[in-house]
Amino acid sequence: MSIFDEIKNNVDIVSIIGSYIPLVKAGSSYKGVCPFHNDKGPSLMVNSQKQIFHCFGCDEAGDVFKFVQLYKHISFVESVKEVCAVAGIKAPADLKEKDVEQIDAETQRLYSLMVDLSGFYNYQLLNNENETAINYVKSRNLTNEDCKTFGIGYCPES
Ligand code: ZN
Repeated sequence: MSIFDEIKNNVDIVSIIGSYIPLVKAGSSYKGVCPFHNDKGPSLMVNSQKQIFHCFGCDEAGDVFKFVQLYKHISFVESVKEVCAVAGIKAPADLKEKDVEQIDAETQRLYSLMVDLSGFYNYQLLNNENETAINYVKSRNLTNEDCKTFGIGYCPES
């Protein structure tokens, strides 16, 4: 889990967004007049279970950071600090703009799949004792340690 997910888990999107615009309870969600278009609404729905907002008027949507970014016209990192300040929790100390790559959930899933997969291939190389693979690695003068360090792996034919 990223530091940003952790922060999101520790704050409530309803109370954060509710500190900028009035929200009223509507069934299992909350709704308010959307600040991102000329809303006659209330068209903005805030779902505390999913921790997302969505406007049915202008289709703006996202998580708590996205809302604060758009609302205050600030960067992602600034929005993280802002959310922490509003929620009264400690912001990560060394948060820098350049360290932050905003990765959407889908890409995050693919990254984590690739990490798992490369771990699997690495395990196969070091434990499967496939002669061809081992000989090739030896011919490149790579030690087991090198293979671990650089995540070199072997993909079994199966
Ligand atoms: Zn809107």
